[in-house]
Amino acid sequence: MEKIYCKYHPAAPARWHCPSCRVNFCMACAEPDTGRVEPTCPLCGQRTTSLGAGNLIRPFWQRIPRFFLFPAHVIPLLFILVLAGLSMLVSGSLFGMLFMLAINIVFFKYAFVILEDTAQGYLEPRPITKSVISDELELPLKQLLLIFFIGTLNYKVLQYFGLGPFFITVFMSVVAFPAAIMVLAVEHSFFRALNPLMILVTIKRIGMSYFIMCLFLALLLSGAAVASDILTTVLPQKLWFASSNFINMYFILIMYNMMGYVIYQYHEQLGHSVTEAYLESETGGNKAVSDPRFRHIDILLQEGKTAEAEQKLVRAIKDNPGEFDAREKLHRFYIATHNQKGLMQHSADYIMRLLHTNRPSEAMRIYLEASHIASQLKPGGARERHELAELLKTNGQSRAALSLLNNLHQEFPSYEGIPGAYLLVAQIMFEYFGEEKKALQVLDFLKKKYAGHPFLKDVEEYRQVIEKMTTASQPSA
Ligand SMILES: [Zn+2]
Ligand SMILES: [Zn+2]
Repeated sequence: MEKIYCKYHPAAPARWHCPSCRVNFCMACAEPDTGRVEPTCPLCGQRTTSLGAGNLIRPFWQRIPRFFLFPAHVIPLLFILVLAGLSMLVSGSLFGMLFMLAINIVFFKYAFVILEDTAQGYLEPRPITKSVISDELELPLKQLLLIFFIGTLNYKVLQYFGLGPFFITVFMSVVAFPAAIMVLAVEHSFFRALNPLMILVTIKRIGMSYFIMCLFLALLLSGAAVASDILTTVLPQKLWFASSNFINMYFILIMYNMMGYVIYQYHEQLGHSVTEAYLESETGGNKAVSDPRFRHIDILLQEGKTAEAEQKLVRAIKDNPGEFDAREKLHRFYIATHNQKGLMQHSADYIMRLLHTNRPSEAMRIYLEASHIASQLKPGGARERHELAELLKTNGQSRAALSLLNNLHQEFPSYEGIPGAYLLVAQIMFEYFGEEKKALQVLDFLKKKYAGHPFLKDVEEYRQVIEKMTTASQPSA
């Protein structure tokens, strides 16, 4: 009964086990390929074995508060409030008693629906439709018949065999009753619910937990009785009747919800098929575990198999170059491992991609992070370097902008944007580093090399700006 948890997500119950690695995986870590039942092990690639779906389901004794809160959901709460309100109309006449019976039948029909829904794995109350209350109304009647039958049986034992045997059969009836209700809910058959063999098999398959459940049910029953008792002393009779009905219904819904959950928890042992694999987790949903596309990589990284993880990421990017999440992951990996070579190759390419898809600020972030470790890193294209340099300059990263444009004309002699790029260099030199001589040298170089280029007008204008400002700042004689 001990739960097994995922090695990589200690809060998540494990679903698969790799016998050769001796590692347990949750549903997020290993997922079956289409057409297969068991997934392959993310570490060794061999087929894993199932730990049973039951391992994913939280044992019922760990979620007792949730059972108590179940009837407090809007739908069941309103439902039993209405029924309790209607019970105020009940009088002592025959008609009144029939009316009370009708209320009880409708209520127990709803209790059975909750039991069945929970047994199917629906852990939240579903909206009440007409069919919920009116279909298969014989189910609560069968339950009534069951109670009548057991009562008669016990009475006959008392009549023919005396008090001793009577106590024994009463005890046995009480213990067997929840199992009979569970069988009735699942099979909808009165005779099966009454069949001692069916009841014994159900109890045996659930095992010790069945008796724990009985204990809880007994506590709930006495809780309801105590609460009703207290109300008799404080409330007028009419009101007491309605509120005591309300309390009883509330507690019965808790009990039916719990019995349904026990079927759900032990559905594999009971041979009961479940439609909704609703997974509860302490964090409220299993989604946050990790991006399923990278779970293998996360596991490999955690196991220190970094080369393998890197290979997988490189392959993922190769197969799908527009996969930015994989690129980001690889970039992060190279940053964390201070891998200069990796950054030079991969992150430079990543920056190109980001610029091409119009994500300039992302490109700048990647460049600044990577160039911190790999100072020689530059995107592969002249246009991209130029664009990135402009961005860096406007964002106050002038030194980084300069190093990007360094020797651009030698590396990319045919790039038609050189005058624009070098004007930027001159501006940075003059405005940020106060190097007017160097700035003028750059402008001279442009004038000589790119005579007739339409950009030279701007170059000439900027030269005049520098000259004007330097003469203005010189002390007049
Ligand atoms: Zn996991
Ligand atoms: Zn393995």
